[in-house]
Amino acid sequence: MTEHAEDPRSELERMLDDLFPYRRSMETHRRIPERGADREVLLTDVALMSKAEDAQGDAGRVSGSLYSGDHEHYRFLAQVFEHFAHANVLQRDMYPSATKFEGEIIAMSADLFHAPEPIGVVTGGGSDSLVHALYAYREEAREARGVRMPNVVLPVTAHVALRKGAHWMGIEVRDAPLTPEYVADVDAMSDLVDDNTICLVGSAGDYAHGLIDPIAEIGELARDRGIGLHVDGCLGGFLLPWAEDIGYDVPPWDFRVDGVTSLSADTHKYGYALKGTSVLLYRSATLRARQWFASTDWPGGLYLSPGLAGSRSGGLIASTWAAMVRMGREGYLERASAILRTNDAIKAAIRATMPELEIIGDPLFMTSFRSAVGPSGDDVIDVYLVNDALKKRGWRMNALQLPPALHFCITGPNTRPGVVEDFLADLREAVDYALEHRGEPAASGAMYGFGSMPNGDETLRTVMGGVLDAMHVAAPDG
Ligand SMILES: *Cc1c(COP(=O)(O)O)cnc(C)c1O
Repeated sequence: MTEHAEDPRSELERMLDDLFPYRRSMETHRRIPERGADREVLLTDVALMSKAEDAQGDAGRVSGSLYSGDHEHYRFLAQVFEHFAHANVLQRDMYPSATKFEGEIIAMSADLFHAPEPIGVVTGGGSDSLVHALYAYREEAREARGVRMPNVVLPVTAHVALRKGAHWMGIEVRDAPLTPEYVADVDAMSDLVDDNTICLVGSAGDYAHGLIDPIAEIGELARDRGIGLHVDGCLGGFLLPWAEDIGYDVPPWDFRVDGVTSLSADTHKYGYALKGTSVLLYRSATLRARQWFASTDWPGGLYLSPGLAGSRSGGLIASTWAAMVRMGREGYLERASAILRTNDAIKAAIRATMPELEIIGDPLFMTSFRSAVGPSGDDVIDVYLVNDALKKRGWRMNALQLPPALHFCITGPNTRPGVVEDFLADLREAVDYALEHRGEPAASGAMYGFGSMPNGDETLRTVMGGVLDAMHVAAPDG
């Protein structure tokens, strides 16, 4: 790579420095130190790392990920967290406050999403919610209908955590294609349903494009076939109600749709809570009870648990509760309004001034865009080259595939004055860069190329496994 011509480090060293940026400046611990380190020293190091790592997000140059970005809000949540960080909410006799916090998080969410009754659980995140829902439906199908070879029918854009859960639990995933509008094709879903289908899934909105599947139609299909429908509102859940209040056109997606039997929404995204919580709501207590676990004959005692987690920190539940009560409807509305307006501005500018790009659907809170298709049917630019140029200018988009696309999910920090203007100027330049470098391989698209090699998926999975291996070790010496 010519741009590194003056960098004396080897390619491998550069990769290691990217993965372990502190390996040259801080001590690497491979053994618990003999004598405990000084608190002040540790705090200084931690502060140094967090300051460096927050800079890009705080500048408003990151898609998704941060959601609030308000450090005063974070400090307040950390204060609340501190009071119960050490508390194990498994021990409810010791910590009845956890019952208050959790019950109220569920009640407030159920109210927001129009659930007939406040029936739900607080989980450790969106994936956790999705996997638990899938488990409840699998158990329900097994107990009530004798299903032994379960499958789940979902649009191909449904969140990948459902695939992970299905993989772990021996559930077959049946992918339905999308309509030309990039939402679930309900007729195709219908064709995939059989007696072993445990539930349907729809997204509001989907991770890749932020689009809301036709939940009302999927709900009808679910009722026709006598099965449940999980709505994945992990991303959009805590934003869409406010968009609706403001007057945006939000198609029905929550419990107001008859066929919806469960719904997930992430408090740690647009709920503006700390990372590590999500809400999973059920229409019926019977379905929820499918995920309860009780053991009566273990020497360790009677054991009762709502889900996979054993011990959980009271700090997370308390601070999630505090986030919701502190934000209030006014606070949520105000933030949603800024986010939606910012996204509107980006969509409008791309449509008006960047014919090389095509926005995928008409998403509310993110903009997902791909290359426009030329008269020959080919992409007019490589959108991964656009990503290369945006990266160089300090932006962190999410790169998508099938088709190649990028998305910018708008959060609090992106709504700051001047950010959109900077982004649009840089995006225009990035598109020009892609036009000028047409035909050249994109750095950020390199991984994608594996997919079209013979055995490409297998090769790619092996490489990705190696990346995880590399991420779970202490830094090699610098
Ligand atoms: C983020 C997300 C999830 C999973 O969330 P985690 O909290 O990262 O586990 C699920 N569904 C959608 C649509 C998401 O955007």
